[in-house]
Amino acid sequence: MAAPSYKRILLKLSGEALNGGNKSEVIDFSILDSYALEIKRIADEGVQIAIVIGGGNIFRGASVEKSGIDRVQGDYMGMLATVINGMAIQSTLEKHGLYTRLMSAIKMEQVCEPLIRRRAVRHLEKGRIIIFGAGTGNPYFTTDTTA
Ligand code: UDP
Repeated sequence: MAAPSYKRILLKLSGEALNGGNKSEVIDFSILDSYALEIKRIADEGVQIAIVIGGGNIFRGASVEKSGIDRVQGDYMGMLATVINGMAIQSTLEKHGLYTRLMSAIKMEQVCEPLIRRRAVRHLEKGRIIIFGAGTGNPYFTTDTTA
C-alpha cells in the first residue's frame, strides 16, 4: 500500500452532518456508522485523526436570541450540544474498534478529558482519534473557527 499523503488530519463535522439535514431527527446513527467506516479506513492507513464537531443539529446560540435567551447563555448551550454529538461519535467509532478520546474546551470531567495540548498530541501519536467538543470554549465563536 502506498504511504498516505498526510500524516495528520483535522476533520470538521457539522452538527447537521449527523442527521443528514433531516430536522425531525437529532442524530441518524446509520449516517454516523458510515462516517465511522470512512474514518476507520483512513486510520488504518496510519493517519492521525482529530475531529472538531459542531452542534447545529441540536442548538445554535444565535438562532435563539430572538426568543429572549441571552446570546452568551445560548452559545454555551450550543457548546454543550457539541459535546453530546462528540459522545455519539466517540461511541460509534469505538463500536468499530477504534481508540478515541473526547476532549472538551469546557471542563466536564465525568464525560470527557479537559483539553491539554500536549496530551492531545500524545493521543494522536498513540493512534487515538481525538474528538474536540465545546468548540473554543468561548461564546461568540463557532466550531468552524475552532477548526
Ligand atoms: N459555539 C460557541 N463557541 C464556540 C463554538 C460553538 O459559542 O467556540 C456555540 C454557538 O452557539 C454555535 C453552537 O455552539 O452556534 C454550535 O456550533 P456550530 O454552529 O459551529 O455548529 P455547526 O454549524 O458546525 O453544526
